Amino acid sequence: MDSTLKTALPKINILGPDDAGYDEERMRCWNKDVIHRPAAIVQPTTTEEVSQAVKVASSKKLDLVIACGRHGHDCMKEGAMVLDLGKMTEVTVDKKSMTVTVGGGARLGDMDKVCQQHGVACVTGTNPDTGVVGLSTHGGAGYLSRQYGLAADNFVAAEVVTASGAIVHATPANEHKDLLWAVAGGGSNFGVITALTMKAHPMDHVYGGLVINVAPTVAMATRVVRTWRDWMPTQPRTVSVMCVLPCGAPVVPMAVVESDQALVPQAAGAKASLSCSPALQQAFGSGCGAFGACVSVKMLGRKQYHTELQPQLEAMQAEGHHYMSSVNVPHLTDTMVDALVAAARVDHPGGGEIILFSLTGAVADAKVESVAYAGAGRGKSTVWIVIIGSWKPDADGANRAKTKAWVQRVKEEMKALGGAESAHPLEGNMDADQGGLVQQVWSSNELRLREIKAKYDPDNFFKCNRNIKPTAAAYPVHS
Ligand SMILES: Cc1cc2nc3c(=O)[nH]c(=O)nc-3n(C[C@H](O)[C@H](O)[C@H](O)COP(=O)(O)OP(=O)(O)OC[C@H]3O[C@@H](n4cnc5c(N)ncnc54)[C@H](O)[C@@H]3O)c2cc1C
Repeated sequence: MDSTLKTALPKINILGPDDAGYDEERMRCWNKDVIHRPAAIVQPTTTEEVSQAVKVASSKKLDLVIACGRHGHDCMKEGAMVLDLGKMTEVTVDKKSMTVTVGGGARLGDMDKVCQQHGVACVTGTNPDTGVVGLSTHGGAGYLSRQYGLAADNFVAAEVVTASGAIVHATPANEHKDLLWAVAGGGSNFGVITALTMKAHPMDHVYGGLVINVAPTVAMATRVVRTWRDWMPTQPRTVSVMCVLPCGAPVVPMAVVESDQALVPQAAGAKASLSCSPALQQAFGSGCGAFGACVSVKMLGRKQYHTELQPQLEAMQAEGHHYMSSVNVPHLTDTMVDALVAAARVDHPGGGEIILFSLTGAVADAKVESVAYAGAGRGKSTVWIVIIGSWKPDADGANRAKTKAWVQRVKEEMKALGGAESAHPLEGNMDADQGGLVQQVWSSNELRLREIKAKYDPDNFFKCNRNIKPTAAAYPVHS
């Protein structure tokens, strides 16, 4: 570690490789494959301390990465200065303005815990361990997205420490409104977000859970996915069904929710059956197999949104060694479905899954230019495909290599069929070579993003991400 770092930042807890607690701290990542040996883990507790840390890192030209929920690829990057926001997890709910403000290091679980007490929820993702800011600034989709849009569509204000160390408060109406627009999908390109305010929506009990559709053959799994694809965008926005293709398993599981607060009985101790949701009743109520499966095991019921629905996938998305990527497709064509089912059923590396997330309803209402997130054009049947490869480490790294190759192959197949890169830094922050990718991720928003980058980070200090270069800087030329 740079020995002057502790002197320059005397009030901030800093862990270097020789300090007790350094190893324990860097190992606390969901994905064990991303754990390296950063030069220092810097743990500010206030926005002012973040500002001091950014000023020091910038003056020393240190390689800075931001760690929030630590689900990203580079949160413990080799040799980097990790700005660990894990001590800035405060959550406040303002019922009057129906907003929630989280600290830069808060996780979804932190937010849900406080939101439950107030009967509200924000649009977030489906795993309580994920960072709110890390998820939301790359779009952020979850059970409430068809009803209320992406997390990024719900930004109300952000406190941002920019590359100069300045503390800026961005709202839709002030002189930093461009910055708020940019962080709503532009990731960590513009600064460290130390507080994020989002719209809150009334939310308590929902109806939902998991359905395991048994589909032993490739043909049956294909039928289930195609039927789901055609059904989902036509349903009420309060209904969300996420479809999963686990590698090598004869099933197509689905995470299901009806979040309409008027349809689902809200009184304490109330009972509810599938019939409370006409859409779910139609999909899962008749026959034994839903969507063309031979049989469907339905684990559905009335659930408290924050404590029962939100954590339901945690056990299935366990810590371990993972390689992940994602791609947005404007429409999931039959050819794409065939390729995805074949990848999960026939030619898979052993462990992992492909998750299909329908970005329809309110997500499709928003215009592409409304926030920085572009997401393959926000079409009426857009699907976000998350490809997760998982393996048990072996001595020569062969399991990792074959799993990574599978993830990348599936992604490239989807891109060749018309898919676009997503903003998520799941697969590595790719700070070195971004030519072509940036245009795909942000499409028509890219030029405006580059101008805003030039204003707030002209020297491209925040570059450990899907890097948007300032207007004057050139991207590498691709042959
Ligand atoms: C198990 C799992 C489940 C997931 N589920 C969903 C889901 O349901 N919906 C969804 O949309 N996505 C989901 N994702 C993807 C997830 O949104 C991204 O991986 C996200 O970037 C993770 O954020 P993090 O804070 O947890 O990770 P980190 O590694 O801590 O951060 C990720 C990125 O965000 C940036 N960042 C973090 N905090 C800040 C901050 N305060 N200021 C500026 N930049 C910051 C970092 O620089 C980094 O580039 C999931 C990922 C995993 C691994």
